[in-house]
Amino acid sequence: MSEELSPFPPDHPAPAVIETQTFCSSCGYNLHLAPLDGKCPECGTDVARSLQGDRLANADPQWVAKLRTAVTLMLVNALLTFIVSLFVSSAPRSAIALVSAVAGTVTFAAMWLLTTPEPKAWRAEQTLTIRMALRICAVVNFAATLIGAANVVAPNLTLALLTDSLQILGLASFWLFFLFLSRIARRIPSPSLSTQCKIIMWGFTASMFLVIVMLIARAAAARGAAPALSQAIAVFACPAALGILVFAIWMLIVLLRLRTALATAAAQAQQNAAAPQPL
Ligand SMILES: [Zn+2]
Repeated sequence: MSEELSPFPPDHPAPAVIETQTFCSSCGYNLHLAPLDGKCPECGTDVARSLQGDRLANADPQWVAKLRTAVTLMLVNALLTFIVSLFVSSAPRSAIALVSAVAGTVTFAAMWLLTTPEPKAWRAEQTLTIRMALRICAVVNFAATLIGAANVVAPNLTLALLTDSLQILGLASFWLFFLFLSRIARRIPSPSLSTQCKIIMWGFTASMFLVIVMLIARAAAARGAAPALSQAIAVFACPAALGILVFAIWMLIVLLRLRTALATAAAQAQQNAAAPQPL
């Protein structure tokens, strides 16, 4: 008898609505009191999709594929850098310059892909400053690589100092790169990869900073500066080199795992875009 008195009998349940301040993932429209099975009145995106959070599997599939390609290019670049470091003492200068320029171009392409604006994502664009700063740093880094390559072909003290100084600015690009990757990893979601990106962000940048300071000190020492400078270089050389080695290997492992996770997310995003899933 009580069933008949219920205002919402089982075959006509209460309309489910969003009871909190929830924003459309595509346009930012406030979906408060919108039906769960409805569409955003502003842009037509399924309300259910906005409730799934900012997982990459729910993002634009082509954009996620670009992130995956960017990480693949960074792995290719790591391989090129490794080859250059193996043959740096024996190969002809022109070959070293050419490979460095190619590696720099690959890095630039990767950074550009990585910082492509996410389509239909008003919330992601809140981190606009990091994305834009990374793009600017990528341009500075690219310029440093080209000047560095020119310096290998035609060594010149001005070019050498300019390259080393630009590399310090370029270090900001490494730092931002892993900060950006850390946020991407959080959306996989992979808290472990996200944390590891942050550790590499601090550890690798600190090691690189030591190496670059040493390079500048060495250039100054070559011009006949105080002998104390040479001793300082010797003291910092070992920890800096060890740091670079440890963090470089760790970075390769993280990039490989990130590439696998992004490939999975891109495939899921493709599926979700082809057939929108109900809540
Ligand atoms: Zn909308």
